[in-house]
Amino acid sequence: MTSKTTWTPAELAELPVVVIGAGPVGLAAAGHLYERGLRPVVLEAGDEVGAAMRSWGHIRTFTPWRYIVDATAEKLLAPTGWFRPIGDVPPTGAEIAEQYIAPLAAVLRAEAGADSVRTGARVVAVTRQGMDKARSLGRAERPFLVRVANTDGAYEEILARAVIDASGTWGQPNPLGGSGLEAVGEGVAAEAGFLVGPLPDVTGRDRGRFAGRTTLVVGMGHSAANTLLNLAQLAREVEGTRIVWAIRADDPSRLYGGGEADELPDRGKLGTDLRSLVHSGAIELVASFTTTALDIDGDTVTVHGVAPEGAHRIDGVHNVAAATGFRPDLAMLAELRLDLDPGLEAPVQLAPLIDPAFHSCGSVPPHGHRALAHPESGFFIVGMKAYGRAPTFLITTGNEEVRSIAAALAGDLEAADEVQLVLPETGVCSAPQGFRTGTPELDGHQSLSKY
Ligand SMILES: Cc1cc2nc3c(=O)[nH]c(=O)nc-3n(C[C@H](O)[C@H](O)[C@H](O)COP(=O)(O)OP(=O)(O)OC[C@H]3O[C@@H](n4cnc5c(N)ncnc54)[C@H](O)[C@@H]3O)c2cc1C
Repeated sequence: MTSKTTWTPAELAELPVVVIGAGPVGLAAAGHLYERGLRPVVLEAGDEVGAAMRSWGHIRTFTPWRYIVDATAEKLLAPTGWFRPIGDVPPTGAEIAEQYIAPLAAVLRAEAGADSVRTGARVVAVTRQGMDKARSLGRAERPFLVRVANTDGAYEEILARAVIDASGTWGQPNPLGGSGLEAVGEGVAAEAGFLVGPLPDVTGRDRGRFAGRTTLVVGMGHSAANTLLNLAQLAREVEGTRIVWAIRADDPSRLYGGGEADELPDRGKLGTDLRSLVHSGAIELVASFTTTALDIDGDTVTVHGVAPEGAHRIDGVHNVAAATGFRPDLAMLAELRLDLDPGLEAPVQLAPLIDPAFHSCGSVPPHGHRALAHPESGFFIVGMKAYGRAPTFLITTGNEEVRSIAAALAGDLEAADEVQLVLPETGVCSAPQGFRTGTPELDGHQSLSKY
């Protein structure tokens, strides 16, 4: 580590751009940076690239390959004989990791250097070299300092001219408790093994623990829908498999979605299938339920909650799948000057445009470096993490975010400001066209699919 404390712009420009996370958006960012003549260093906490996606590898996504593969990444991959899979069948998480993310990492390592994509490297903190958050003078003239914990237990510090945080939110699931905190007894129940995560491999690897037993799924997103449908398949095969679905809302229709009107047929079908299973009684729906406590009772747990009519309990549960969404890890960014919405924890300009409370259609305009900027110049949060606690992110949105940011970092503001995005319609509703936001790059409305 250098002891240097004064940097010329030319010296700063020599430093790499650190990208945190080797998911689809982090690697697309690296591709754009490389194409623009900048030096990317991608740091991935997992042992393999695409680590988060591999943990839900058994789940089939609902976006066909054309909404996943970044155009610049495709260009980089083409000389290796790689081509984007054709057709409308969406890939599974594992297929995206194996067939796209891994080859892209290999190409980057070959072209931009072996160290341009590193695994087993968890970023634990980002700051400015020699400056804490309170120091203002000369802040922008100091490089970023990225502290990394390697899997061998050693720490290292990397200096960077800019940092793009594409670390996703998969590592920080929301708790079961309805108040944003763990429910009483949730930690003990988790330690005792009753909590199974949002997307267990019910019909594959984890089948044994679900077959012939009672599982409670809590939440109303597509993770919950996937787990419920897989449980229903298992229930058809193994007698005694009971499925209870608890939601905070009084009505699950939002998740049932647009059905055949959805431009992504697999997403439309997910909702339609779920509705049939609830109507047939194969899934027991408990609506208006807010989890408050869990009590272990032998080999089952009782889940307590409140409902409009008063206290409510769900007994005899062997497994609880908390599919209650995710939140961004902001602890590692505590020394940076960020401008985040206090509710959604998304960049402040983006947050009102993706807030699920007001955007039932899931509408978002294309957005790039300006909407994603923070007072800490040269630092950006992108991808799933840019949406903070909002659940509607799509990879294609992230590809456009990082294209714009790489162009801005390379000084090509014209390209950086030309943000474009075409997203598939949900079929749930159609959003008004052409609203004005006051920020040129946020004008020009597009519809975003509900995730
Ligand atoms: C089940 C499921 C289905 C989805 N289906 C779709 C779909 O059909 N279409 C769609 O467009 N989107 C879908 N999404 C939403 C979203 O596009 C994906 O979650 C996507 O993986 C987000 O990409 P990302 O690169 O932002 O983050 P991630 O893929 O989560 O990648 C982040 C990476 O950063 C690493 N990391 C985390 N913390 C650190 C750290 N501190 N230091 C270093 N590395 C770190 C992680 O290990 C991970 O590999 C789905 C999400 C889920 C969970």
